[in-house]
Amino acid sequence: MKNSLILFSFLSLISILKADDKQLGKLGKQRTCFDVKHYSIAVNVHPVSKSINGSNTIQAVFVEESRMIQIDYVQKMKISEIKLQNGHDLKYYRKGRAVLIELGRNYKKGEVIKFKVSFMGQPEVAKKAPWQGGFVWSKDKDGNDWIGLACESKGASIWLPCKDHWNDEPDSLDMHLGVPKGLMGVSNGRLMGNTSISDSMVVYHWRTSNTINHYNISINIGKYAHIKDVYNGKEGALSLDYYVLAYNASKAIKHFRETDTMLRVFEHFFGPYPFYSDGYKLVETPYWGMEHQSCIAYGNNYKFNKFGFDFIIVHESGHEWFANSITASDPADMWIHESFTTYSEALFVEYTQGIDSAISYLNMQRKLIVSKYPIQGTRNIDLHHRKDNDIYYKGSWVLHTLRNHIGNDSIWMDILYGIGSTFRHKIIRTEDVTNYINKASGLNLEPFWKQYLYGTKLPVLHVKMGKSVSESYIEWYLSKVETNFQLNLKLSPDRILQADSKPRRLALDGKLSIFDFKRLESLYLIKVEIEL
Ligand SMILES: [Zn+2]
Repeated sequence: MKNSLILFSFLSLISILKADDKQLGKLGKQRTCFDVKHYSIAVNVHPVSKSINGSNTIQAVFVEESRMIQIDYVQKMKISEIKLQNGHDLKYYRKGRAVLIELGRNYKKGEVIKFKVSFMGQPEVAKKAPWQGGFVWSKDKDGNDWIGLACESKGASIWLPCKDHWNDEPDSLDMHLGVPKGLMGVSNGRLMGNTSISDSMVVYHWRTSNTINHYNISINIGKYAHIKDVYNGKEGALSLDYYVLAYNASKAIKHFRETDTMLRVFEHFFGPYPFYSDGYKLVETPYWGMEHQSCIAYGNNYKFNKFGFDFIIVHESGHEWFANSITASDPADMWIHESFTTYSEALFVEYTQGIDSAISYLNMQRKLIVSKYPIQGTRNIDLHHRKDNDIYYKGSWVLHTLRNHIGNDSIWMDILYGIGSTFRHKIIRTEDVTNYINKASGLNLEPFWKQYLYGTKLPVLHVKMGKSVSESYIEWYLSKVETNFQLNLKLSPDRILQADSKPRRLALDGKLSIFDFKRLESLYLIKVEIEL
């Protein structure tokens, strides 16, 4: 009896959690009827009580007629009122994480609405930021408050009332961040100024002039030193601003010189840094890192990896192109963020140290591939609970494999650059990326995507020696592959072999050894089995 009761409560907890995820992931009419244009957020942060209070003034345009809209906010946080711009109270009711607002009349397509949602409460504390997110209430070595926020997996609606779905973003954002006097508040975009609002609180006003996804809306508070630099890039001068703990300033000045190289490499491969008008920032955080747009969270303690670069600077900045500029419309398509960014690390190594080092780097990633669940997830359920890291490592290898399959680096580099520019500042789906690459490569890659994005089996290349009356030959074929799956195998610069499920052969000519096939594992996500 006791056991079944525990089981029952466990199951009901799971169903509540799933219901909450589904509700957040699902796009009903009350969410699709409006398009968010602007947020003006005012939030005061109180470290002693670990609480926040403030408001979000939401401006939106109707794309379909409606008299009700849904925004999102966790039940744990309180909404004190929702008011129209003219001061009229709006009625609302809450259902799970949804806040359903009655507008009192039909709003027509094209009509603009502006309303203010006031909120307060103790937001969720991160269990393990950035993976299990929330607010991070920490102290620096001198005992000053040092506060961060990371909410990619939980959604911004754990602290901010907003339309919390990846398929809509405000086109711009004002953040009025109130922090205790003596500390500084840093958020996305550019600093417009600060105002003292009481004896104990100062408000920092930040403005983002580009579209921004919700989980990127960032709060950083600390005893920061400000370091300025400039990068001269593809669109002219880009301001670099670093906010680091005051006692780390001299270390940071030296360490962050790498930013210049990183930006140069990524602009080379993916096109101009996507947010020149908002600048580029690194902000020291009490957690490892996060791609917060134009305000990257940096918590890697000024460490280089064994390839001689700072992983967090390179990885999180890569996300400025893939995640922040080009955003997946649903977390199910999140491989677009992580695969390209994880692959961008290898490109960084290739550009700075050469292809052999890049292959070593990729081989390190390869060890972490599981391939038990497809990279492409299920849409409309707010999928964040993945059981492995395949959207990173397998995704990176899918791109590496594709490059070698295409077998022409100038086409491949055009594809990467083309994706960076074609989908700049856009919200897209997996099919947008795959269709683009299909067209640009001129290849039928549908079996390739089916194999690597939607499937879990890794192709096996079987290679064996044979002998006929007249000659010795090598025979090869692929198993565990989708119908019509085919790879162009680059055995040497001048020898490309077709491989599919049909056995093929090549006469031994003295220049070729059966063991040459083994090194294909460093170019393609395949297993090579040599039968002697
Ligand atoms: Zn990432």
